[in-house]
Amino acid sequence: MTKANILIIDDTPANLNLLGEILTEAEYKVRKAPNGTLALNSIQAGLPDLILLDVKMPGINGYEVCERLKADENTRAVPVIFISALQETNDKLLAFKVGGVDYVTKPFQVEEVLARVETHLKLHFLQQELTAAREEAEKASRAKSVFLATMSHEIRTPMNAIINFTGLCQQADLLPLREKEYLEKVTRSSKSLLGLINDILDFSKNEAGKLKLEQVSFYPLDSINNVVSCVQVLANAKGIDLHVDISGSLPPVMGDPLRLEQIFTNLLSNGIKFTKTGSVTILAQCLSATDNEVFLEFIVRDSGIGIDKDVISQLFQTFSQANTSTTRHFGGTGLGLAICKQLVELMDGTIGIESVPGQGSSFKFSARFKPSTGHPEQPQTTAAVADPKKQRLDSIRHAHILLVEDDLFSQEVARLILGKEQFRVDLAANGEEAVAMAAIRSYDCILMDIQMPIMNGDEATRLIRKNEQGRRCPILSMSANTMPEDREKCLAAGMDELLGKPLETAKLFDALLRWIPDGNMKDAEE
Ligand code: ADP
Repeated sequence: MTKANILIIDDTPANLNLLGEILTEAEYKVRKAPNGTLALNSIQAGLPDLILLDVKMPGINGYEVCERLKADENTRAVPVIFISALQETNDKLLAFKVGGVDYVTKPFQVEEVLARVETHLKLHFLQQELTAAREEAEKASRAKSVFLATMSHEIRTPMNAIINFTGLCQQADLLPLREKEYLEKVTRSSKSLLGLINDILDFSKNEAGKLKLEQVSFYPLDSINNVVSCVQVLANAKGIDLHVDISGSLPPVMGDPLRLEQIFTNLLSNGIKFTKTGSVTILAQCLSATDNEVFLEFIVRDSGIGIDKDVISQLFQTFSQANTSTTRHFGGTGLGLAICKQLVELMDGTIGIESVPGQGSSFKFSARFKPSTGHPEQPQTTAAVADPKKQRLDSIRHAHILLVEDDLFSQEVARLILGKEQFRVDLAANGEEAVAMAAIRSYDCILMDIQMPIMNGDEATRLIRKNEQGRRCPILSMSANTMPEDREKCLAAGMDELLGKPLETAKLFDALLRWIPDGNMKDAEE
């Protein structure tokens, strides 16, 4: 081991020299400082492993030196032993109060000073080792989360191809009944696999500190209604009543509606999953609303199997399930509640359970939001857009679209989906090809992947915008990274909107309807 480095601070030269000699003889490396100011400078220049500090000194006294060292993050960990002629208990107490680890009175016994120095050095080095080990462990854990996040992200692209191709097969006419049934099962399994992958992605993203909430204006009641209309089929299938019970009104807020919906979806689908007969109710109320904050509370209550008291505390941990036999019966991964807890905490709230086995469970959570500043968009109910959309799609049919995508399967999926609605699709396999093609022909819309070899989507968009003359062509980016900062990057590069990946047919057509002007296609007759 390298020799420990000790700094002695004392204004009396005789003391400095005596302590210096003793410690040098004991094979320590010794530095000396005759007053507080010089000592502090010397410490900043190179951290000692331990400090022996006199109390009474002209200028800055020992207590103050110690206080300053402890207030500074860089020097806080260095152990300080006071060595002073002051003998009163109060003097000693003060030394510990300002952060000293020990106090030796003068005149001192050489052996005692050496024993104390040695003990505190040992403790100090042990602590350093522990800190390093903890940092290493945290680093490894973050690396694991990043790995999981990347993996699940990568798995989504082929999953998307599986789901979309299966969907296309199912639309084929005259498919034998049995094959149709098989394909339906493939679809259901792939969707549940995709759900699982998304859960792992969310969880690990949050662990890696990469899960950020959006801040948009919305009505919490819309989020509740959206989720209820989605899980209604599950409840109907089991003959369970689904109720929404809002007390008072819920004001519009600024926050992340999709993440809030994710919590409701998890809790409601658990409620339905673990209830045989009876009902599942979602209750909501506003606990307080000021100019700065809206504090909401939500409860999802079911009349299901309930949860034993002794497992309740573990339920919000990852991969934890209340009892393995129910899991065998109901399936699941035990990630849902852990994600709910993460999301609730990101919303500055808390989540808890009350449950009576055999009678039901009640999951209560709170969330804090900023009050809404603008006018939230009115919700689009899927039923309302379904038919008019079909008519409007007619008006942009034959639009000429440039699809920029390097992944062969994703190319084919997008081409088939667009081709089915009679869009004309040109293909570019990377950004460079896209720039060249956009220079020759003006398209009604460009669908741009982000991560591509040779030239990525951001750069290609910048170049296309630079070359563009006259009409601005809508460029919609396709990326699996849909965090707010990813969206900002796309907009900054000159794109108009970010469509998430896997591409969802309905969302893609919605976006095309928004961006391609009705019946005003470029070179439609070509
Ligand atoms: P998953 O449902 O995917 O296993 P969750 O984290 O959502 O994961 O739930 C963890 C466990 O908590 C479930 O496996 C189940 O044992 C228990 N649990 C969750 N919600 C309920 C509920 N409403 N009623 C009874 N048990 C529940």
